[in-house]
Amino acid sequence: MEIPLSKDARTWQRIAREYADEYLQPHEVAAELNEGELPADVTARNKSRAIELGFTAIDVPESHGGLELPMESQAAIWEQLGRVTNALSWCFPEAQSWMFDACTEEQLQQYILPMMRGEQKDCYAITESGPGSDVSSLEATAILDGDTYLLNGEKWYVTSGNLATFFWFQAKLPDEDDEALFLVDANTPGMEVIANPKFSHTYASHHPTYLFDNVRIPAANRVGQPGDGMAYTHSWFRHERLMIAARSCGAMARLIEDATAFANDRIIDAAPLSEKQAIQFMLADCVTELYASRLMTYEVARAADRGDDLKSQHTRCSMVKLYVSEAANRVADRAVQIFGGRGYMRENVAERFFRELRVDRIWEGTSEVQRLIIARSLLKRGLDGM
Ligand SMILES: Cc1cc2nc3c(=O)[nH]c(=O)nc-3n(C[C@H](O)[C@H](O)[C@H](O)COP(=O)(O)OP(=O)(O)OC[C@H]3O[C@@H](n4cnc5c(N)ncnc54)[C@H](O)[C@@H]3O)c2cc1C
Repeated sequence: MEIPLSKDARTWQRIAREYADEYLQPHEVAAELNEGELPADVTARNKSRAIELGFTAIDVPESHGGLELPMESQAAIWEQLGRVTNALSWCFPEAQSWMFDACTEEQLQQYILPMMRGEQKDCYAITESGPGSDVSSLEATAILDGDTYLLNGEKWYVTSGNLATFFWFQAKLPDEDDEALFLVDANTPGMEVIANPKFSHTYASHHPTYLFDNVRIPAANRVGQPGDGMAYTHSWFRHERLMIAARSCGAMARLIEDATAFANDRIIDAAPLSEKQAIQFMLADCVTELYASRLMTYEVARAADRGDDLKSQHTRCSMVKLYVSEAANRVADRAVQIFGGRGYMRENVAERFFRELRVDRIWEGTSEVQRLIIARSLLKRGLDGM
């Protein structure tokens, strides 16, 4: 299925595919059966190859030594990495372009640029126990105390908290009637893991709950300017929503390929299973949804490259995340069905994706939240403004 892509995107697609096939996919089952963990030498090899290929710098401005790839090429990379389960592609940190708008030169030197070299790894502490969908009602606080801030609050589902070297911490500033992001070194006194629940998927990256109890950080670790509020968190949301769609496209492609191969090999009633119309209909629906998903994903990526109106980009990132994550869940469900009992085994790719893709309808804003964003945008700006 050919989607028109630039030459640059095609090149990166090939590089990422080779990396996914050679470095990641062979370890999926071992990771699944070992709590998501791989031997340290395998993880180190995967990470160093990713750095060598430049994956840690794809969104970094050239002025800071990065590759500054168009979003189209970045989506092409993440689509290929999305073919692999157990989040094995999360073996490298990724500095993102908005960080270069948000951070001071000192912050860039201390936290962001080292991510390109694999020396720092970040995680995001935004969600709290209150309604996570309503990011405007966060309760964590940052109080200025001399040349430090005191951070307090409870943060839930901090993905990669167990592996990160620093946290992005979103808090209210009661003294300023504002809010901001802060950079917090892992293991700063006052930070405590108060829960580490297990989740449906099997990842080496955990999602612990943290208590921040009078965590004291330098005032210089506040990110951005007064009045920036949630602006940078929204930049992160846009980036992640688009890349969730890209990864979901990769997952769909893998599921369709593997389910088709199985249906061709499996003999039922003395004929390949793929000859049954019931199976063909499922595959046809999967392929159609993948086609729509890819068209949408790459168009939203190109809208970012064109520099379309930011509000319109924000809405489109919600649309692509909503549509593609839900389509991918339908594809995974059909793939399990085509594999039959084998599709319910943990060694089967469809079984893993069936569990793993479910969270894409929840994190980075649930499907309902994406619908609210889209509807509000329609009501405010009309169809032509979206
Ligand atoms: C595995 C995992 C990893 C995560 N990683 C991170 C992370 O790294 N950093 C981070 O900060 N957060 C992270 N999250 C949090 C995630 O973004 C939130 O779970 C998500 O935003 C939903 O918030 P909630 O769980 O509090 O659900 P709630 O807000 O309680 O929502 C519950 C239900 O109500 C619906 N709902 C809520 N409000 C409305 C409304 N106004 N109208 C209609 N329906 C509504 C929701 O769609 C949902 O169906 C992670 C979550 C998971 C599961």
